[in-house]
Amino acid sequence: QRVAGLVARHTRDVADFPTPGVVFKDITPLFANAEAFGSVLDLLAERHEGGVDVVAGVEARGFVIGAPLAQRMGVGFVPIRKKGKLPGEVVAQSYDLEYGSATIEMHTDAVKPGARMLVIDDVLATGGTAVASCELVEKVGGSVVGFDVLVELAFLDGRARLERWPVHTGLVVG
Ligand code: 5GP
Repeated sequence: QRVAGLVARHTRDVADFPTPGVVFKDITPLFANAEAFGSVLDLLAERHEGGVDVVAGVEARGFVIGAPLAQRMGVGFVPIRKKGKLPGEVVAQSYDLEYGSATIEMHTDAVKPGARMLVIDDVLATGGTAVASCELVEKVGGSVVGFDVLVELAFLDGRARLERWPVHTGLVVG
C-alpha cells in the first residue's frame, strides 16, 4: 500500500505525549514534505474518484488533509469543529472521552440532503472521534461514503466501532 509507505517514512513517534505512557504519532513531517504529502493526496483522491460530493475534515489535522484533498477532487470542503467555533447555526454531537466528554459541530446548512460525504482525519485511535463525526454528518443529512485516516492505531480497536461505515486507513500500527 503506497499511502502506508509514504506515511511510515514521514511520521515520527513522540514518547509521553500528551501524557506519560502515550506514544504519539506525529504526522507534521508529512505536511512539511510537499512531494510526499502531494503523493498521499493524489492516492486518496484516486481512491474516491467520482464518488464524493463533499469532503468533511475533523479539527484540526483533518483540515490540513481534507481541504487540499477536496480541491484535488474538485469538490467542496466543510469543517467539523470543536464546540463553539462555528459562527452559524450548528448541529452538535457529543461523545465520551477517557475523562469527561467532548462535543463537535457542523453548520446546519453545510451539506445538501443525501450528499456523499468523505470524512477525513489524521489518526484513528479509540474511534470515539470518528464515530461522532460520522454520526454528525448523518445528522446534517449527508451520507458517509468513507472515513479515511492516514494512521490507524490498531491496538485500540477503533475500527470495531465503525462497522456502519466504510473505513480506509493508510499505515496500520500495532
Ligand atoms: P479517538 O477519538 O479515535 O480516540 O482519537 C482520535 C483523535 O485524536 C483524532 O482526531 C486524532 O487527531 C487524535 N489522536 C489520537 N492519538 C493520536 C496520535 O497518536 N497522533 C495524532 N496525530 N493524533 C492522535
